[in-house]
Amino acid sequence: MVVANFTEMRQNTDAVTRDYNGMADDAAGSHILTIDVEDWPQSTLDHSLPIGERVVANTHAFLELFAETGTRATFFVLGKVAEKHPMLARDIAAAGHEVATHGYSHESLETMTRVEFKAELHRSVEILKEQTGLPVHGHRAADFSISAQRLYFLEIMVQEGLSYDSSIFPIWHPRYGISGAWRHPHLIRCASRDLLAEFPPATVKFGPVVIPGAGGGYFRLFPYWWTQLIIRGIERSHYPATCYLHPYEIDDDEINHIPRPIPTILRISQFMCRKNVKGKLRRMLTDFTFRTMIDACRSLNRDGLPIALDLAVLPIRYGNNHPPQ
Ligand SMILES: [Zn+2]
Repeated sequence: MVVANFTEMRQNTDAVTRDYNGMADDAAGSHILTIDVEDWPQSTLDHSLPIGERVVANTHAFLELFAETGTRATFFVLGKVAEKHPMLARDIAAAGHEVATHGYSHESLETMTRVEFKAELHRSVEILKEQTGLPVHGHRAADFSISAQRLYFLEIMVQEGLSYDSSIFPIWHPRYGISGAWRHPHLIRCASRDLLAEFPPATVKFGPVVIPGAGGGYFRLFPYWWTQLIIRGIERSHYPATCYLHPYEIDDDEINHIPRPIPTILRISQFMCRKNVKGKLRRMLTDFTFRTMIDACRSLNRDGLPIALDLAVLPIRYGNNHPPQ
């Protein structure tokens, strides 16, 4: 049984912090940049829409910027996008970046059964492996939809041969996230006892409140100094910060090409400030260095990370495990 009450266990997580600081010097100053490769109308407006063409040019714009700045990143590619544009994942891999999976359809995991998720994950991994000729090591769920009720899906990722996940947003949000989840890279022990590394998106903590700001709409809408503050804060704790963006976020002309009316709330939250993103990103790539998630996973010595969540111990909650050795 999965218990939804993720009350933060501050004493235990502080112990994890102390232990982790000793091993994570290599991570200081080198953060993790991730791009969720999806097509906005299909991923956000209506999942039944066909994948469009703009995702290709937008992804290539990121590749050009990264080549210019010497940045390496992890691209979580949606299976449907890879199917529609079979050269895209290949181009990303050929440019020296990591290709990982963003699932197949961009349906929320909240609406999927175990069997459906297993099938979608396998399908997406097989497509990417076939296209790039490389193994797939990591996963990010659509809309960060690994909730407290879907933690048992993590075991399916291990069965698929993955080493890490990056889907647990440690914030309170009406659509996603697990409030009280561990904010830094950690291991999750599945009920099967298999281990999976988890890389949560970067956040900052003020007392009991955890606030995001280094990815997606938060990066786009908040001023750059906020993102900088979050990354610097994580850096001071000797952790790598996980940042994320979508190809469409640099496409300020897309709003003129959407095939149907867009609800006002989406128009504001999804299209505002897109024209500023590229400049802010360029600044972020100057101020900080980034690498792929699998590189971070390896250099942090994945299996030496603290186990912050143990799905074999009841009640299931962060910090409810033995302190790391
Ligand atoms: Zn997505």
